[in-house]
Amino acid sequence: MASTISAVYDVVGIGVGPSNLSVAALLDGIPELSAAFFERNDAFAWHPGLLFRDARLQTSFLKDLVTFADPVNPHSFVNFLHSKQRLHQFINADFDKITRAEFIEYMTWVATRLPNLKFSHDVREIRFHNDMFVARIDPNIEVYSKHVILGVGRRPYVPPCARPHLGDAVFHASEFLARAPRSRPASVTIVGGGQSAAEIFLYCIRNIDSGLKQLTWVTKRDNFSPLDDSPFTNEYFTPLYSKYFFELEADKRIALLNAQKLASDGISASTLREIYQEIYRVKFIEGRALDLRLLVDHELTALDRAGFKWAASICDTTTGERSSVLSDQVVLATGYETVVPRQIEGIRHLFELEREQLRLKHDFSASWRVPCRSRLYLQNAGRRSHGIADPNLSLLAWRSATIINSLLGREHFVVPQNEHLIERNAPQQTRQPMEQIA
Ligand SMILES: Cc1cc2nc3c(=O)[nH]c(=O)nc-3n(C[C@H](O)[C@H](O)[C@H](O)COP(=O)(O)OP(=O)(O)OC[C@H]3O[C@@H](n4cnc5c(N)ncnc54)[C@H](O)[C@@H]3O)c2cc1C
Repeated sequence: MASTISAVYDVVGIGVGPSNLSVAALLDGIPELSAAFFERNDAFAWHPGLLFRDARLQTSFLKDLVTFADPVNPHSFVNFLHSKQRLHQFINADFDKITRAEFIEYMTWVATRLPNLKFSHDVREIRFHNDMFVARIDPNIEVYSKHVILGVGRRPYVPPCARPHLGDAVFHASEFLARAPRSRPASVTIVGGGQSAAEIFLYCIRNIDSGLKQLTWVTKRDNFSPLDDSPFTNEYFTPLYSKYFFELEADKRIALLNAQKLASDGISASTLREIYQEIYRVKFIEGRALDLRLLVDHELTALDRAGFKWAASICDTTTGERSSVLSDQVVLATGYETVVPRQIEGIRHLFELEREQLRLKHDFSASWRVPCRSRLYLQNAGRRSHGIADPNLSLLAWRSATIINSLLGREHFVVPQNEHLIERNAPQQTRQPMEQIA
């Protein structure tokens, strides 16, 4: 059956995670731009496979969808609390960090207030035709748009040796809650050294009564290292630092990202404390028969079937010594990677690349090989260009405001111009000037 051209928009958003939900919320007060946002899920969701009951946000609740761009916006977390008549109780509860469950309730509340979000719409392909983007969407729709904002998230990273074995017993952390609780394994190996690995470890050790006898946690890192969210490190999560970072040469940016890793990928200090205390309780107070191994400086190098179990070959990164861990289940908490989404494979050649990724401009639009007035904006794909904060919530509202200002060709949202508290060498020349777009 031929596709139906259902509409023509100024801007179409692909994916409704926090990134595009933030743009949609900020666009809500700007009627001059016609917009629609398409999401493949049938309702708003945020990493459901890792939504543990007590999982906490790693950022302040003020870093919501809108506040840092527009503090009086009605789609703020504070207005959500006010509307639910629990603002006083929220403050009285004095949370250090709020639960991810409450933040999801907030984002779902915002999603239900926005008329232009279209769920159960999977965007299959984006083409470019007659100066317009054409999005082919299941079920059987085509929409035309002058601009597109891709907000499809990052792809779970699976080490090559594990890829042929993905399934019920070997899977990425993003699927944990969909798979693990059903299977009640006697032995589990967790690979990875970040927050997701830590939360999965905590879940497993707290559910020891489910029959768990052996729990192994393997990381390449040299320790189970804390997230650095101290004040001067948090300067990396500001618009001005992002602008500074953007002006640097590519090699310097990559070096900085490696040096700053724990500012984003470390484990919350509270989670580390809970894990340590659980281990203490299980080992020393309860004296449970749990074979517990915490292996740092070890890398997963191969994965093979061994009867009904899986043999994870691990290599000591200091000595080169190899050993093997047998378990029923292997959970790969190995992070996420930025890739060019397959939906734009057909138009990728129209844009400049930098190290296999689309080169982004200041305003988060991809850089065309030949000048063009339409824009393809990429959310959550600018870690290498805009800095370590890009995949997180911290600069979400600012990034959305930057994109909307670019769409409008004027500074509708005032972006902060305050001073750095830290002096850094200013780059000699800008790589690309901020463009005003008509
Ligand atoms: C478990 C976890 C906890 C986190 N906690 C924090 C935190 O506390 N603080 C913080 O700052 N950061 C946190 N982050 C990082 C950051 O907030 C998330 O990565 C965030 O989800 C990024 O939002 P996004 O909208 O870019 O991508 P996603 O949340 O991945 O959303 C992308 C959306 O696009 C949809 N989609 C994909 N392809 C298509 C298609 N073809 N058609 C239609 N829809 C499509 C997907 O279904 C999805 O809904 C966390 C990350 C994880 C994994």
